[in-house]
Amino acid sequence: MKVDPKILEKWDKEYFWHPFTQMKVYREEENIIFERGEGVYLYDVYGRKYIDAISSLWCNVHGHNHPKLNQAVIDQLKKVAHTTTLGSSNVPAILLAKKLVEISPKGLTKVFYSEDGAEAVEIAIKMAYHYWKNKGEDRRVFITLSEAYHGDTIGAVSVGGIDLFHGTYKDLLFETIKLPSPYLYCKEVHGGLSDTCREDLLSKLEELLRARRDVVAVVLESGIQAAAGMLPYPKGFLRGVRDLTKKYGVLMIVDEVATGFGRTGTMFYCEQEGVSPDFMCLGKGITGGYLPLAVTMTTDEVFEAFLGEFGEAKHFYHGHTYTGNNIACNVALANLEIFEEERTLEKLKPKIKLLSERLKEFWDLDHVGDVRQLGFMAGIELVKDKETGEPFPYGERTGFKVARKCWEKGVFMRPLGDVMVLMMPLVIKEDDMNYVIDTLKEAIRNL
Ligand SMILES: *Cc1c(COP(=O)(O)O)cnc(C)c1O
Repeated sequence: MKVDPKILEKWDKEYFWHPFTQMKVYREEENIIFERGEGVYLYDVYGRKYIDAISSLWCNVHGHNHPKLNQAVIDQLKKVAHTTTLGSSNVPAILLAKKLVEISPKGLTKVFYSEDGAEAVEIAIKMAYHYWKNKGEDRRVFITLSEAYHGDTIGAVSVGGIDLFHGTYKDLLFETIKLPSPYLYCKEVHGGLSDTCREDLLSKLEELLRARRDVVAVVLESGIQAAAGMLPYPKGFLRGVRDLTKKYGVLMIVDEVATGFGRTGTMFYCEQEGVSPDFMCLGKGITGGYLPLAVTMTTDEVFEAFLGEFGEAKHFYHGHTYTGNNIACNVALANLEIFEEERTLEKLKPKIKLLSERLKEFWDLDHVGDVRQLGFMAGIELVKDKETGEPFPYGERTGFKVARKCWEKGVFMRPLGDVMVLMMPLVIKEDDMNYVIDTLKEAIRNL
């Protein structure tokens, strides 16, 4: 069905309630309706071209319309689109589970499927809680970080810490103990990220772990609090949390939904700190940005606590209709093959360097208050007053205005509040990177 773009715009506003969107404002504005993609480029219904500078919300890896990923969909489609994994199995889901175990930190040997990052976290939370029950211990408390983001289902929101997203639902959430956001705490108390700050934070965690015997797990993002505005941890923090959770016999849940699949320069950020958690949650880039798929990986130790005779009812009562979907798993397999065939991570190294070189230029701009980077993820924070760090008023949507300027120049951006996000597909060419950065710089300069 070919529908006139003007009619599509009308129907979009009439029928479609968009996520994380104030629909009153959305309906008053002109919006992009994407129609197709090719590599790092997206085209809207008018044929206008954009570079996808946020990897379609952080999930695209090897570009859109990739022949090999397309073929993986087609090949599986010709066999069967979906069969249930509740008590039966399918070929791509088995092969993918094996492959994920091979490339993940040692010790993560079991794969539980779901569809979105929030579910992957939700499952880790329930499994961790249930693990202690099966071990005969009654534990109920999770240690989390302020400014954390783990997705939007109630459990994932409970372990999150962004007031703007979570405040409304607070009566529905379970209680957690929150440590401060490492980046914000370090900045405020120690003048920036440092070893001293890391040790300070870790000693706070140790104090908690020493005082309480009812902690189920520590839950945190890997290396950086992405949705909070790209707030990196001090180097070694993740490693320190691993050491302490081991020492005090508490589980560690690491959310690699944003950082997984090359975003930080290695397949998973955990590798960079030699960390092997009890749970690793993956999503976003797992299918190269093609289809909804997520996984919760865990250890033999956790898995075995759920083993028993059927009548003992020790098993994990959780699953979704599309758990381990055949097509999604087949695309995920192809995604991982492309990493090898195209040597994606090796080719990414000079681009990470280029990004950090070019990010330095932003410090000179009047309205830039901070510039942050981890691997190929970056955030540029806009402020009203560079001297005092005073932010722009929330209602002004300054970040969004800058993004809109970029749209006009053919760069698709979506900020996090007033933090401009650069999360380009890993395959982007240096010319396109430079164009994105030049465009963003110009848009901020003209504020
Ligand atoms: C995006 C994100 C999630 C949620 O994933 P969804 O697929 O949107 O549910 C969870 N954790 C982190 C770190 C994320 O960036």
